[in-house]
Amino acid sequence: MRIYAVANQKGGVGKTTTAVNLSHALANLGRRTLLIDLDPQANATSALGLEPKEGCSLYEVLQGRATVSSKIVELAENLAMIPAEIDLAGSEVEIARLPNHLTRVREVLHQFREVGGFRFCFIDCPPSVGILMTNALAAADGVIVPIQCEYFALEGLSKILQLIEQIRAATEQDSLRLEGILMTMFDARTRLSQQVVEDVNRYFPQQVFKTIIPRSIRLAEAPSHGKSIFSYDPNGVGARVYDQLAREFLERVEQRG
Ligand code: ATP
Ligand code: MG
Repeated sequence: MRIYAVANQKGGVGKTTTAVNLSHALANLGRRTLLIDLDPQANATSALGLEPKEGCSLYEVLQGRATVSSKIVELAENLAMIPAEIDLAGSEVEIARLPNHLTRVREVLHQFREVGGFRFCFIDCPPSVGILMTNALAAADGVIVPIQCEYFALEGLSKILQLIEQIRAATEQDSLRLEGILMTMFDARTRLSQQVVEDVNRYFPQQVFKTIIPRSIRLAEAPSHGKSIFSYDPNGVGARVYDQLAREFLERVEQRG
């Protein structure tokens, strides 16, 4: 099981939308995928029609009181999830007191990765640089950074790249890499969107995914119906681009072996 954190300390850039729909797209392509909601806001959880109930999340697992397997909810063929709960916010304080507080998520997932039967695991991160996001990065083999096609996109990007470097050093997670930068909420009508894509491509030509996620009302509506885009609007542009992203992602990671 390869583990990817979907992370950006900036809020509202499309992390959850990407974690949910890329997971479902890969499941559709026959790769068994586990989505972990590690954000106390529990947006990915409700976006897939689950409730952030007490005891449903990775929280008890991080405390050593439950197994990863016991928290897994099957959602669709090849797609499963570990939901979030509000209490995850409290776990930040609790985990911070443990001696191995940066690597709790890594420890529990790395025990599970060989036996769980999953090909991929995506962790939807909260938009703040706290214990949870740090733990997700320290557990990950790769980071996917969604960025919105807006001003200051590059500024936010350099911060997360710095953070990845710091965590790699602090936790000796040598395999941690920036897997890809995903341009989201692209609006073809605005010069600004095109400018931002050009800029990011100039600085990070290797990392930017060729697939660009456009602004789409359907993508924004799907979570309120508790469905991924593949259940809500399987024939629309949102489903098409996330399927395309999944194929590009597979090409990258499977080429590398
Ligand atoms: P947070 O930092 O709060 O966790 P996030 O980075 O996870 O936010 P999302 O929740 O995925 O971002 O997206 C923010 C908002 O933008 C949501 O209302 C979502 O439905 C909407 N949105 C995301 N992607 C698109 C898109 N391609 N087109 C239109 N709306 C989108
Ligand atoms: Mg989110």
